[in-house]
Amino acid sequence: MEIKLFINGEFKNSSHHTLKTSYDPSNGLEVAKYHVPSVKDVDDAVSAAHTAFYHSEWKSMSQEARADILLKISEKIKERSREIVELEIKDSGSTMRKAKADVHNTASFFKVMSKVARELKLHEKDEAASRAGFSINSREFSPIGVCAQIIPWNFPLVMAGWKIGPILATGCTTVLKTAEETPASAYILAEILKDSGVPAGVVNIITGGADVGRALISHPLIRKVAFTGSTEVGKEILKSVAPHVLKATMELGGKSANIVLNDADLSLAVDGALYAFLYHSGQACDSGTRLLIQDEIYPAFMEKFLSRIKDVKPTLTSDPNAGMGPVVSEKQLNTIMSFIEKTKQEEATLLCGGSRVTTGELKNGFFIEPTAFLISPKNTIFHEEVFGPVVGITKFKTIEEAITLANDSKYGLAGAVWTNDNEKAHMIASQLEAGTVWINEYHLLNPGMPFGGFKQSGIGREMGPEGIMSYLEVRHVWESDCNERSKKMWFDAIF
Ligand code: NAD
Repeated sequence: MEIKLFINGEFKNSSHHTLKTSYDPSNGLEVAKYHVPSVKDVDDAVSAAHTAFYHSEWKSMSQEARADILLKISEKIKERSREIVELEIKDSGSTMRKAKADVHNTASFFKVMSKVARELKLHEKDEAASRAGFSINSREFSPIGVCAQIIPWNFPLVMAGWKIGPILATGCTTVLKTAEETPASAYILAEILKDSGVPAGVVNIITGGADVGRALISHPLIRKVAFTGSTEVGKEILKSVAPHVLKATMELGGKSANIVLNDADLSLAVDGALYAFLYHSGQACDSGTRLLIQDEIYPAFMEKFLSRIKDVKPTLTSDPNAGMGPVVSEKQLNTIMSFIEKTKQEEATLLCGGSRVTTGELKNGFFIEPTAFLISPKNTIFHEEVFGPVVGITKFKTIEEAITLANDSKYGLAGAVWTNDNEKAHMIASQLEAGTVWINEYHLLNPGMPFGGFKQSGIGREMGPEGIMSYLEVRHVWESDCNERSKKMWFDAIF
């Protein structure tokens, strides 16, 4: 497969003829060659987005027409779901179950965005602020303009959808940069966008590394940056956009606390805790990687946990029943293994796992055993995001202690509580410094609700009305309701 640049509605070769390869993390085999954009290609992509925003029918297109396009995209994703699932498995190391869920969720997201676009009110009179005989005050919303959007490799299709959906719903234009590890599904999405009637230049898609990302965000025609990735890179991006006072939304890292109370349903909490940190081999930003367990339930919980974790086996992603696949790359594997080795050397107890799988049919892939340590806040992995199948378990006595432990983090993306006491659950949820809190649940998201982080987990939100608003500028329009000169409030102010 050859992945070209999608610029101004056309699939193009890189102008400096540079191609790189993406690999299947399950077996190291080549998946695709992708064209790496030059600075000129980045400039062409941004210029196309700029022209589409200022000099095409896109800006004046009705919300109904935008909604129809979004619905078509949703339907075409469903039509091509088998092909996308196959590609996503190879390109990103997703299991078939995850890839199917990703495709389904992305199609649903575009459908929801279609409804949002249809119902979006771009002009609203504020009755409470207006005063009869004096003023009619209203809000007018305008698309923010040309956006630079950068996504990571863990949920390539979903992340591309979360970025492109609001662009189309609000009338912005974009250059989306996918991660170099996972260029494939966004390429199919580009074909779908073209087939669904997205006008040329409205969405441009390129793939590349940090240098391409830097060239994109520093382009003078960009009006907003929407970034999903690590907190470290997020900080670098914020520094570089500050001189231009660019609007920026940041979806960054996490170290989410998963709290199990004494009165929790034991079986549910154990399975929930495993799902929370092992889904997609722990490569989800909201993974429950700090497992906080109350002292009375701890022995029974751990007995069940250590027996149940054996049922989650690293498996080739070509096996449709695989529950856990590889991590995305050798680089990511090395990062995770160095966190594991560091924790082994710190004051911590290895409870299970802790090694790379190097045997049998998994030997050419990047597989790591599900790993659990008993840790305290003194340990590095209590604070640092590992982004792999590794959990740190910490015991606590009181609910106050659990809340303090949970909030002892620079991150604040998500968290969860497992308990049969609903009142206690909501009290804890209200105390957690986290953008999403689940009660007896994990990882589930709702496109109608905001997703994003407190503290260093981000700035702004994706999805929900909050996500849409971040692509709109608001204008206050003051209309006088009194056109008699002598009754104007300012009549005697300067004359
Ligand atoms: P990363 O920060 O290394 O890279 C993310 C993207 O930024 C990639 O496309 C990369 O090419 C690009 N990039 C890297 N350096 C750049 C620079 N200096 N300027 C511009 N672009 C640059 O992250 P990753 O390893 O790809 O992804 C894992 C991280 O993403 C984790 O920290 C995870 O928590 C986070 N994440 C967050 C969310 C969320 O919604 N909060 C969702 C998914 C992943």
